[in-house]
Amino acid sequence: KPVCLIVLGMAGSGKTTFVQRLTAYLHSRKTPPYVINLDPAVHEVPFPANIDIRDTVNYKEVMKQYGLGPNGGIVTSLNLFATRFDQVMKFIEKKQSNHQYVLIDTPGQIEVFTWSASGTIITEALASSFPCVVVYLMDTSRSVSPVTFMSNMLYACSILYKTKLPFIVAMNKTDIIDHSFAVEWMQDFEVFQDALNQETSYVVGVSAVTGSGLDELFVHVADAAKEYETEYRPEYERLH
Ligand code: GDP
Ligand code: MG
Repeated sequence: KPVCLIVLGMAGSGKTTFVQRLTAYLHSRKTPPYVINLDPAVHEVPFPANIDIRDTVNYKEVMKQYGLGPNGGIVTSLNLFATRFDQVMKFIEKKQSNHQYVLIDTPGQIEVFTWSASGTIITEALASSFPCVVVYLMDTSRSVSPVTFMSNMLYACSILYKTKLPFIVAMNKTDIIDHSFAVEWMQDFEVFQDALNQETSYVVGVSAVTGSGLDELFVHVADAAKEYETEYRPEYERLH
């Protein structure tokens, strides 16, 4: 039976690029995978997809027809597709002797898949018939801050516990930055602690009743506002 690799990760972590790379790799090993694209909103799929959600649901039409914005359109498209996933299962089952791997690319925004009924339906359908592994992609170059790293790992944990599937954290983009710092953080809590201590983080004691601590609070607010401009704003604009 083929092993299903469900590729998950934050928007921009490199899921589609990773599936493309895996596909090329497996072709070169003479074990071509069965590839499924579940992102209805992607402009171009850079790998040969055996099943493409875009062949079944037209994301732009769904938006128009149901009067939805982009996110609602993606969720609804995935819902519509999930209602027919039994057919997808039949396709995979028919072809299963030809493939060692099934690769599944998921929508850009991770929560569309991980926190929706349709994502659960699809994952459970696959996992009930095939060995499934979640590959959680992390953008290593965007996880050099211990806080970002920690939130990414917490997200990974929430998916681990939700899917209950075997789980691989793939620290992507190691061409930009080596991932050894992150491995060290995972293995040695004190190293992580030290890094965390160097991070600007905002902790302040206040009393809403007496008003104590508010001077200090506003010093932090000023720092945080600066950080917003340099750290959050560019990231926010990248994603929207
Ligand atoms: P997705 O939203 O998770 O599907 O991410 P994409 O595959 O669309 O990739 C987002 C961006 O990251 C693109 O500009 C990719 O070229 C880039 N990218 C993906 N993987 C890597 C990698 O390993 N190294 C580098 N340098 N860039 C990458
Ligand atoms: Mg993608």
